[in-house]
Amino acid sequence: MDAPKSIEASRDDRELRITWNDGHQSAYGFKYLREQCQCAQCVDEITGELLLDPDSVPTDIQINDAKLVGNYALKIIWSNGHDTGLYTWIRLRELCHSSTGQQPPTGTDD
Ligand SMILES: [Zn+2]
Repeated sequence: MDAPKSIEASRDDRELRITWNDGHQSAYGFKYLREQCQCAQCVDEITGELLLDPDSVPTDIQINDAKLVGNYALKIIWSNGHDTGLYTWIRLRELCHSSTGQQPPTGTDD
């Protein structure tokens, strides 16, 4: 899968916006995206069990930096210091499908 046409992180809206090569546009809330991290600290590599407590993710989490990894993924450095997660283009595209372009419910805001 090719790298997206454009990637933009809006700190004001706390939203990552991606325009794909086929023109499809995706938007992901920062907190939602942080909760989808697949790194070894967040998901057990063997059992697939979720190790990350979603409640531990601040609702106002920010992206400090993001770097391209090769031509297949985005590495996101979060404001709470978590920087081991890779988001491949395939995974990001899947996350978009599963949320049908809508902002997923955040659940426990209050
Ligand atoms: Zn992680």
